[in-house]
Amino acid sequence: MARRRPLIAGNWKMFNTGPQAAELASRLRSLVSDVTHVDIMVAPPFTALGIVAEILKGSAIRLGGQNLFWEPEGAYTGEVSARMLKAAGCSHVIIGHSERRQYFGETNASVNWKIKAALLGDLIPVMCVGESDAEREADQTFSVVQQQLEEGIKGLGADEVQGFTIAYEPVWAIGTGKTATEDQAQEVHEFIRARIEAACGNSIANDLRILYGGSVKPGNIAGLMAMDDIDGALVGGASLDAESFAAIVRGSLDA
Ligand code: PEP
Repeated sequence: MARRRPLIAGNWKMFNTGPQAAELASRLRSLVSDVTHVDIMVAPPFTALGIVAEILKGSAIRLGGQNLFWEPEGAYTGEVSARMLKAAGCSHVIIGHSERRQYFGETNASVNWKIKAALLGDLIPVMCVGESDAEREADQTFSVVQQQLEEGIKGLGADEVQGFTIAYEPVWAIGTGKTATEDQAQEVHEFIRARIEAACGNSIANDLRILYGGSVKPGNIAGLMAMDDIDGALVGGASLDAESFAAIVRGSLDA
């Protein structure tokens, strides 16, 4: 059983207009209003942050961005800064999601710059790492994750890593319906914690929340959360349905 307070985070990706996001947020708010032992965060598309922030005001559900740009401001058409996310009501920001790496050319170096920008902007980075299908098949899972971790936190002090959340998301399990087995997920989570311990010391590694992401559903959350080093979930598809997401939040306590 995980020893850290769980975080269940919903990544709404490029789904939902403002009014649709408002409806989803208000349904979720009412479904989880009595939940006190789990932290909850949702990351709507940028265009819906304002309206979702209004709806979630006064609730315990936190708001996150799905990405940011590392510069504080400037002529960077189409980009959004940490300060903009903060002003829109965000406490968290997802960085280095595999879809950003796959479709938008994000690298470990850009992930590192974005993490630094997030920390400077007083946002909690949710740094995503994870291997592709081919990398797992080639037995490279640990080396890929180690490189993503090391390059992602390069130049950061232990006190900065303390503010982090890490999400292990095997790319082959995202949106595919294929979940890593509990043991597959646990062994990578344990490895991530050990790498952070080597870099930042025992107490920071012990407190670090490591989320699992990849086809998390109400039916598999309890088994995942029963593992020692799994402290919550980053949920894509199932977070677009308020009932499913609320069931995952509740299920995270059943472990
Ligand atoms: C994700 O996008 O972070 C994710 C884990 O998606 P899904 O839950 O749909 O696999």
